Amino acid sequence: MTAEIYFSNNYRDLCEEQGTGAGFQFEFSCNRCNDTWRSPFEAYTGARMASWVGKGVNAAWGMLGRAGSGMSTAADGLAGAGYGHARDAAFRRAIATAQGHFNRCPRCTHYVCNRCWNAGQGICLTCAPDTAAEAVAAQQRGLNDMVAERAYTAGQNSAQQFAVNTPRQLVCPQCRAETHGSAFCPSCGHRLAQQDTCGSCNSQLPAGAAFCPDCGTRR
Ligand SMILES: [Zn+2]
Ligand SMILES: [Zn+2]
Ligand SMILES: [Zn+2]
Ligand SMILES: [Zn+2]
Repeated sequence: MTAEIYFSNNYRDLCEEQGTGAGFQFEFSCNRCNDTWRSPFEAYTGARMASWVGKGVNAAWGMLGRAGSGMSTAADGLAGAGYGHARDAAFRRAIATAQGHFNRCPRCTHYVCNRCWNAGQGICLTCAPDTAAEAVAAQQRGLNDMVAERAYTAGQNSAQQFAVNTPRQLVCPQCRAETHGSAFCPSCGHRLAQQDTCGSCNSQLPAGAAFCPDCGTRR
């Protein structure tokens, strides 16, 4: 039953054991795009009997003389044996039909739908991506990378104009407004942290100085 192993993690059991919709159906999904394909629904003809037997099965339960290993409901027990076999057979048929809708990639072992299959190479499109699609993606990547690089360089160039040694108070101590590093608060006009070097001769200024003691420039 090798097929069951291949499909072990990409199918969903849609079987109904009881009721008017009782029957077998399985949904298989592509490992690559998650698209699903459902096997044709097969009605379970033993369903009516199963639900009928289910009512009387509690009485018969003791006579079976078996410990109910994992059999929690009555229908799982007596009537469930027939259902289980029928389900297994239906699952095998569903897998056989599913083989026509899925391809097993020999490289990555994934089961993929026909749209995710590189028929020319005989492996999946993840392992052998479409050439035209890759070319478009690579072109976009090249464009984005180069624009990002140029934008980075432009940022580096404009960094020359940024006075990194200027002390900045980002929040006004008086009114708590954001200052964006300005000399005066844009909201209340409060004088913020001052340059501590003279703008024209570059010498150190004492705290609170209105003029440079070396060259007389107004600060
Ligand atoms: Zn797919
Ligand atoms: Zn593959
Ligand atoms: Zn302020
Ligand atoms: Zn000066």
